[in-house]
Amino acid sequence: MLRDLSFLKIGGTCNAVFEPTSTSDLQQLLKKTNDNILCLGAMSNVLLYDGHIDKSVILTKKMNNIRFSNNQVFVEAGCSIASFIKICVDNNISCIEDMLCIPGTIGGAIIMNAGIQSFEIFDVVKSIQCLDRNGNTVILQRDNCSPQYRNGNIPAGLIVTSCILQTKKADNDLRQKISNIMKKRNQTQPIGSFTCGSTFKNPTGYKAWELIDSVGCRGMQIGGAAVSDLHCNFIINNGNATFSDVIQLINTIKQRVYAKHGIVLEEEIRIIT
Ligand SMILES: Cc1cc2nc3c(=O)[nH]c(=O)nc-3n(C[C@H](O)[C@H](O)[C@H](O)COP(=O)(O)OP(=O)(O)OC[C@H]3O[C@@H](n4cnc5c(N)ncnc54)[C@H](O)[C@@H]3O)c2cc1C
Repeated sequence: MLRDLSFLKIGGTCNAVFEPTSTSDLQQLLKKTNDNILCLGAMSNVLLYDGHIDKSVILTKKMNNIRFSNNQVFVEAGCSIASFIKICVDNNISCIEDMLCIPGTIGGAIIMNAGIQSFEIFDVVKSIQCLDRNGNTVILQRDNCSPQYRNGNIPAGLIVTSCILQTKKADNDLRQKISNIMKKRNQTQPIGSFTCGSTFKNPTGYKAWELIDSVGCRGMQIGGAAVSDLHCNFIINNGNATFSDVIQLINTIKQRVYAKHGIVLEEEIRIIT
């Protein structure tokens, strides 16, 4: 069941699951199968339908090579953000350490243009290597990409296999910076809960959590899904939440925020059916 692998612990079945170990492995697989494909990283930003998804799922986690060269690094899509940052820090290299509080893979981060207020992954992207549905290689140069807030705008259907990121020699305070990020995360996020992080994007000029709080949704519960008391842009699965519970909670929040503020909240999480 996909639920076992997802951060939110919601998800049903799919046609097949593949875990390629390299780009050429994935290339062969794409050429062999005619099925619709769904590529997933760590599943830290997805709400998956809990019935059957009529697709074959590709999990990238075994594609996790990293190669450093002069002021840049080649990273495969399945590499986890945390382990990549650890390797950078151990080698005294600065790259995406600002993203330490973000779970997930490099590929997922590219698709989402993941980041924090002051930094997003596209700040250091030089190029992105992808495969299309037929296994053909597509290389996207940074200058030809149009990333937006929490959306890398990678053309639909492409699977990100790796990227090249800009690096630099770390400042002396890198380890201190890392420790500060971890401390802040532990204070502000519901660590240990089943969640996929921020449910909604911040509308321009507003913070989604403040809007949600202002309409009395902090702690609101529908079935097994609840708005986190600690961070009310996070939806939590209390253990037995269904896909439908989360959708209902999302819709209730959106309706209340619209009724009071005239603002349409847009989902940051990807809803996959
Ligand atoms: C506790 C918590 C805190 C978080 N904090 C932040 C934060 O501060 N900032 C932030 O930006 N995000 C945050 N997130 C969200 C999430 O961690 C990021 O969006 C992350 O980059 C998603 O990576 P993933 O590998 O889990 O992607 P998944 O959730 O697996 O997938 C996300 C989307 O990308 C697609 N996808 C994944 N990999 C590929 C690939 N290789 N090729 C093509 N498509 C692919 C999937 O189909 C899906 O549409 C948080 C999540 C949690 C649970």
